[in-house]
Amino acid sequence: MDSKIKTRLMKRIESIVGPENVTVHETDTVLNAHDAWPLSEAKIRAGESLPLADLVVFPASTGEVAEVLKVANEMEIPVTPVGGGAGTCGGTLPIYGGIQLDLKRMDKILNIDHESMLITVQSGIVGIDLEEAVNRHGYTMGHTPTSLRASNVGGFIATRSGGSLSSLYGKIEDLTLGLETVLADGSVIRTKAVPRHSVGPDLKQLFIGSEGTLGVITEATLRMFPIPDERRFRSMAFPDVHSGLTAIREIFRHVTPSLVRLYDPEDTAMFVANHFDVDEGDCMLMLGFDGTPAENDLSESKSVEVCLSKGGKDFGEGPSKRWWEHRYDMYYPNRLTTSGYAIGDTIDIVATYDKLENVYYAMKKAMEEHDAIVMSHFSHMYQNGGSIYMIFFTNQPDAETAWATYRRIWDDGVAACLREGGTMSHQHGVGLSRTTYTEGDMGSAFDVLRRIKKVLDPKGIMNPGKLGLGVRD
Ligand SMILES: Cc1cc2nc3c(=O)[nH]c(=O)nc-3n(C[C@H](O)[C@H](O)[C@H](O)COP(=O)(O)OP(=O)(O)OC[C@H]3O[C@@H](n4cnc5c(N)ncnc54)[C@H](O)[C@@H]3O)c2cc1C
Repeated sequence: MDSKIKTRLMKRIESIVGPENVTVHETDTVLNAHDAWPLSEAKIRAGESLPLADLVVFPASTGEVAEVLKVANEMEIPVTPVGGGAGTCGGTLPIYGGIQLDLKRMDKILNIDHESMLITVQSGIVGIDLEEAVNRHGYTMGHTPTSLRASNVGGFIATRSGGSLSSLYGKIEDLTLGLETVLADGSVIRTKAVPRHSVGPDLKQLFIGSEGTLGVITEATLRMFPIPDERRFRSMAFPDVHSGLTAIREIFRHVTPSLVRLYDPEDTAMFVANHFDVDEGDCMLMLGFDGTPAENDLSESKSVEVCLSKGGKDFGEGPSKRWWEHRYDMYYPNRLTTSGYAIGDTIDIVATYDKLENVYYAMKKAMEEHDAIVMSHFSHMYQNGGSIYMIFFTNQPDAETAWATYRRIWDDGVAACLREGGTMSHQHGVGLSRTTYTEGDMGSAFDVLRRIKKVLDPKGIMNPGKLGLGVRD
């Protein structure tokens, strides 16, 4: 950015949020230059520099966000909202410089409505702080992504995130009842928090998953649930993916577990076999049940009956309980991803049951053709289908080959998913890593999104380049 423009911008923004809440220091811009996108991390390890924001701004209120956006819009400065900065798709990367609008100071609980079991918060509140606060009142948010300690409510909503117990509680789009959003021109819009309505389309859904491209989410009203009397676990090993998926489909015809995760043979070998005596090729199904003991008795016994009838071997609570208690461990850096030009990532896709198995085999084949080790689990399962979380690693002799191989794995993996009728993301969003695939995934509906973007953000200042929108020259 031209230094005169930067000085003028800085002065105007400082007058809104105070000089102490704007930074141009390299330590801050470098820290904010990446989220948890593995490609950024790999590039940093290889000594490459990432694009930096010109200014990082920390507003404290909706009013301040609105004033900052008015200035940015008038001066045509790109604005990238930052939540917890733990997204995995490069959504917060300031690829065209400008302002990074970091919402972490906006972390207040504004209201708890015990009668309606709703809570209204500012969007910068971190997931674990919110969960612990409602726990003290006897509630749970029911939203338990493994990034709970790192991500905040704005980030959850902006990416349509999903917790491990989404089979029972739903994803964030099911848990959000009302929203306050600031549009690119600084206008503030609110959607009412009601359980259901029939006053036209549900406009809040436009902003859920918009990844900062249509506005800045500043407040949200979310559902809460009573803490369940009991959380119970059960595990079953299946001889193959097919029988495990057949059992899952059948379980959902009778009961709704909170946790459903089926590990394929590679994932079972990697994460289960060193603690439990599984046979080679086994696929471990992990189940969890939230409810009263009587409800859980019913759900568990029905699930066990179904699993045994489909060839499952009973492993008791062990593998599932262990996973739950160690669910954060796998994210700590290990030698696999921090040595040489090794790079890994996850592709989380979703499909209906009639397509899910074909999508899985087609993607695995396409990715393995590029020298990738692929291991997967089917998680976030529902009545009509579910997601596959495909983890891949590749190790290459130099940076250039590593980045090119990484891109080919993604290109061919996503192409296989779309060809077989899947959707390319269930919970991580699109960001930068999947931006070029968005139109292919949405098909003719993408034009509607493009037109909405033009109307709401005619100058294209909101997070340009993400979600397939606003790529600049
Ligand atoms: C270890 C680890 C585990 C993870 N586990 C899960 C999981 O179980 N489930 C899951 O769904 N995801 C998971 N993720 C991915 C990620 O953390 C989530 O997608 C999360 O929702 C991102 O939230 P954040 O606050 O970190 O967002 P950020 O990374 O800060 O932002 C993500 C995107 O949202 C936009 N944005 C952020 N805040 C706002 C706002 N207030 N208004 C408008 N736009 C905004 C940003 O511009 C960006 O495009 C995991 C990530 C890591 C690193």
